Amino acid sequence: MATTATATGPALDDLRGQIRGEVITGGDPAYAEACRIWNGMIERQPALVVRCSGSADVIAAVRFASEAGLPVSVRSGGHNVAGTALCDGVVVDLTGMRNVFVDPERNTVRAAGGARLGDVDHETQAFALATPFGVVSKTGIAGLTLNGGMGFLTRNYGLSCDNLIGADVVTADGRLVHADLERNPDLLWALRGGGGSFGVATSLEYRLHDVGPEVFMAIAFYPADAGKEGILAWREIMRDAPDELMSVALWWNAPAEEPFPPEWHGKPVFILAGCWSGPLDEAEEAVRPLRELTTPIADLSGPMPFVVAQSLFDAEYPDGRRNYWKSLYLPDVDEAIAELCDRAAASRPSALSSIDVWALGGAMRNQPEGGSAFAQRGSPFLFGIEANGEAAGDDTDNLAWARDLFTEASALSPGGTYLNFPGFAEEGEEILRVSHGANYERLKEVKAKYDPENVFRGSFSIPVA
Ligand SMILES: Cc1cc2nc3c(=O)[nH]c(=O)nc-3n(C[C@H](O)[C@H](O)[C@H](O)COP(=O)(O)OP(=O)(O)OC[C@H]3O[C@@H](n4cnc5c(N)ncnc54)[C@H](O)[C@@H]3O)c2cc1C
Repeated sequence: MATTATATGPALDDLRGQIRGEVITGGDPAYAEACRIWNGMIERQPALVVRCSGSADVIAAVRFASEAGLPVSVRSGGHNVAGTALCDGVVVDLTGMRNVFVDPERNTVRAAGGARLGDVDHETQAFALATPFGVVSKTGIAGLTLNGGMGFLTRNYGLSCDNLIGADVVTADGRLVHADLERNPDLLWALRGGGGSFGVATSLEYRLHDVGPEVFMAIAFYPADAGKEGILAWREIMRDAPDELMSVALWWNAPAEEPFPPEWHGKPVFILAGCWSGPLDEAEEAVRPLRELTTPIADLSGPMPFVVAQSLFDAEYPDGRRNYWKSLYLPDVDEAIAELCDRAAASRPSALSSIDVWALGGAMRNQPEGGSAFAQRGSPFLFGIEANGEAAGDDTDNLAWARDLFTEASALSPGGTYLNFPGFAEEGEEILRVSHGANYERLKEVKAKYDPENVFRGSFSIPVA
């Protein structure tokens, strides 16, 4: 497309003159690195990557793109599995904007648009405060929040987007606007779960809760053949569990390291993971059922600093692997799901792939329907499929496994995908429409108000009404 030519004209020289960050184009030595994101399967060649040092750079980059007729995508943590951080046009790269400011008197935190989960947790935990995020510390807060944001605190304190109380946003016309309940409330509504289609969030402000400094993690590894019965028992445990207990059931493979017995190294396992974020003296009793399903192969449970819990899974998700993730909401976990998980787990072509069932509910339900763009509040479970591999030659088998499983599971679901685990862009608009449900039309209207020319038109973007 014409993007490369546009990105070498005098307007580009002007852009370079205006910003304090870096403008990186195809010929630059830094280009390949600037186009690399977490998922090694994603290869895109943007016309330019603008590494911004602050809002002024973001404004200049967005104005440049609008005038040149180029699409804009935003890169924050670069963890979006579908690769939506990269588009063919201008990538507004916020990786240099990660400052975090805590207000322990108001119980709020404001973080720059490129901050990672670990950046925010580190600062808020100095005051034993936290807001709900995901479970891997290198994920970007912005991408995570804009599509919801689920993690160990979700049942206790809601989704990340439920705790978003304000944001500074550079809109398509290059204005910096503030969105909160008083100013541009329609924009705040859309940012709470409606995705990254409305502008560049240069900072995000969240409500904080008393968490830590220690939480109790349950991480019990069982033989994979305990999974079929185990997930049904887990369903019962979680049905009556207090909101302070968040839990995920997974089919995966045991790490080949201590403390796992050598005969279990690399072998398929069923894992019950959970986080108790309530009073520590109630933790052992609350998580006990997750640890007593049957005799565990290994039980890594125990109290630990919240920041350690938040990075427990980091090593399992290194940069550069080839990943394809899909998800759907489940009304229940029944025999049919248990049988499907058991069968599909046994046929995983890659030992790195997993099936994850998240227990939802709790505080996630406390928001009124329609009070934020996040539409899927009623489902008690989320079914996640992670096809992960190392070599490009394995992609076909890994994707086929995930897609077949998704098709089978879809027959057991009323529909709706968690848009942070969405598959790839070509599976696009229909997924958006179904997943946003009754909120979809309103999202299109907000899009038309703040981005009528559809400048933010990376993959999975809301169309203009
Ligand atoms: C290892 C790993 C673990 C994960 N764990 C969880 C989890 O526990 N819970 C969960 O809910 N999700 C989880 N996810 C999914 C994750 O939330 C999404 O992939 C999310 O998009 C990542 O955000 P990011 O900022 O890192 O993404 P990026 O790839 O940087 O951005 C993704 C998209 O978000 C938008 N965006 C990003 N920053 C901004 C901004 N400042 N302003 C406007 N739009 C912006 C843009 O549209 C961009 O295209 C995980 C993903 C990975 C790879």
